[in-house]
Amino acid sequence: MIFSHDVVIVGAGGAGLMAALYAKEGGADVAVVSKLHPLRSHTGAAQGGIGAALGNEEEDNWLWHTFDTVKGSDYLGDQDAIEIMCKDAPRTIIELEHYGVPFSRNKQGKISQRRFGGHTRNFGEAAVRRACHAADRTGHAIMHTLYDQCTRQGVRFYDEYQVLDLIMTPDGACNGAVAYEILTGEVHTFHSKIVCMATGGYGRAFKTTSNAHAGTGDGLAMVLRNGLPLEDMEFVQFHPTGLYRLGILITEGARGEGGILRNNDGERFMERYAPTVKDLAPRDLVSQCMYKEIRAGRGINGKEHLYLDMTHVGEEVLLKKLPEITIFSRTYMGVDPITEPIPVAPTCHYAMGGIPTNFNSQVETGNREAIVPGLYAAGECACVSVHGANRLGTNSLLDLVVFGRRAGMAMAQEIEERRRERKLPLPDAPEKRTRDMLEAILSRTEGEPVVNVRTDLQQSMMDNVSVFRNDETLSTAVADMEGLRQRARNVVVRDKGKAFNTELMDAVEIDFMVDYAEAIAAGAHHRTESRGAHSREDYDKRNDDEWLKHTIYQSDCEGNFEFSYKDVVITRFQPKERKY
Ligand SMILES: Cc1cc2nc3c(=O)[nH]c(=O)nc-3n(C[C@H](O)[C@H](O)[C@H](O)COP(=O)(O)OP(=O)(O)OC[C@H]3O[C@@H](n4cnc5c(N)ncnc54)[C@H](O)[C@@H]3O)c2cc1C
Repeated sequence: MIFSHDVVIVGAGGAGLMAALYAKEGGADVAVVSKLHPLRSHTGAAQGGIGAALGNEEEDNWLWHTFDTVKGSDYLGDQDAIEIMCKDAPRTIIELEHYGVPFSRNKQGKISQRRFGGHTRNFGEAAVRRACHAADRTGHAIMHTLYDQCTRQGVRFYDEYQVLDLIMTPDGACNGAVAYEILTGEVHTFHSKIVCMATGGYGRAFKTTSNAHAGTGDGLAMVLRNGLPLEDMEFVQFHPTGLYRLGILITEGARGEGGILRNNDGERFMERYAPTVKDLAPRDLVSQCMYKEIRAGRGINGKEHLYLDMTHVGEEVLLKKLPEITIFSRTYMGVDPITEPIPVAPTCHYAMGGIPTNFNSQVETGNREAIVPGLYAAGECACVSVHGANRLGTNSLLDLVVFGRRAGMAMAQEIEERRRERKLPLPDAPEKRTRDMLEAILSRTEGEPVVNVRTDLQQSMMDNVSVFRNDETLSTAVADMEGLRQRARNVVVRDKGKAFNTELMDAVEIDFMVDYAEAIAAGAHHRTESRGAHSREDYDKRNDDEWLKHTIYQSDCEGNFEFSYKDVVITRFQPKERKY
């Protein structure tokens, strides 16, 4: 079937819903296409909070937030975009509150705020309470509210439709997408004036991750396969506190409420590495320090984990402000955080890099002047870049709502300007490439199951491209991709049916994963310095002379790729050494 709308948004997480709401309010006919029911999007799992300098607990201002974000990014974030985000944050939170988000309250009845890593007052003096939260279920509260608002406004939802390709005109404009309807196995064309990618992160490319199963980064591969670039893919965030072995997240809000990391000697080791903010140093630093402790033999009982100690924080705070992680620790680890320390280790959490966009969320071709007509991107799959080499906690939810809204407004305006124009015509057989791909998988009778290839990909990324990297590990990872690509293209699925053939979608996803995993590994190999979350043992210093620039990666998805660069926008804050 062919569905026709002004705007097609791919993804129904916080970014997609915010874009949908604003595009719809601006008068556009909007469809949201999502492989999950919207409320199952990963945004619903966000725990700790959303950052804004409201100053409800103590003095704060957006300029300090801007500085913290720039410093947190290890000076790779674009300062014009960061300023937009931090300045817009307080207004955004009030707006979310008015939409109905049930934020937790402080004693004065204002929105409650707590400490988070890297957020300080007065340009680094001490930690500040800036994270607005709804207990430790902030994303859940935001998702439900935005979904309510979208339904109320009449946004059209296509749930459980998995988009597998973009439709591009011969002139390089985007005018639609091709989707697989999971319930029926039918392939459909979405014809539109604008497509907005909001497909989220790719944590599932790594063995240990906090991300949901759907976090397979599909949008990134679709962009690459249509000849468009990705930016700064080498920057992958490992969150310090995943439950040991499982990777399930224990929010940084736990340390924001007073939790302390300890090694096997019972020592609060972060005091040695970050004397001012200690356990509330940014994530790149804390994860690196945790591995240093483990390598120095100070992991708990010689194992590859440390302790997050909440026992002094008290039952009331845990049950009231951190109920979710209290339940997670009890359920998954059999550990009660009220009386026992929680075993934790870094877990793959967030993609700093992604589809390059300008600050109206229009996709760029790589160089700042040129955009891809008809294509937008917002949320974790996009790279504005407000997070640079390392994202601060609470800044992703903020990124979603600020740049999701800007995407929505810009799309509504574009639709208004193009009201009298017809949609650009569809090419002949827009679904052909997708149908051929699905047919090839379904007709194969021999080959290995998807799970084997996926396990090996996740293991290689975990072993070679995690918190510490070097020439040897990265060369191995890049070389691994070649073999994995061939294997991903030869998997066999047992289920040949049409209804809910999730095995077939797994087969498509593993093929997607290889394409951007190669971007991550090759980008990390290419960048011969250490910056933010990209920590090279063989180039352990930041090198601003050569590497104060964004990497732009382009690939034919057959193992041939090339790099070009984009300048970093520096406005107020000149790069300095980061100390916490
Ligand atoms: C456990 C956890 C806790 C977190 N806590 C916080 C926090 O406290 N504060 C903070 O700022 N950040 C937090 N983050 C990060 C933040 O939640 C995410 O970065 C953010 O929610 C991503 O939102 P998104 O809208 O970009 O994508 P998602 O919410 O991941 O949504 C992606 C959407 O895309 C759809 N999709 C994907 N591929 C396709 C396809 N091929 N076809 C159709 N649809 C597709 C999915 O169905 C989904 O609807 C947390 C992350 C995790 C994992």
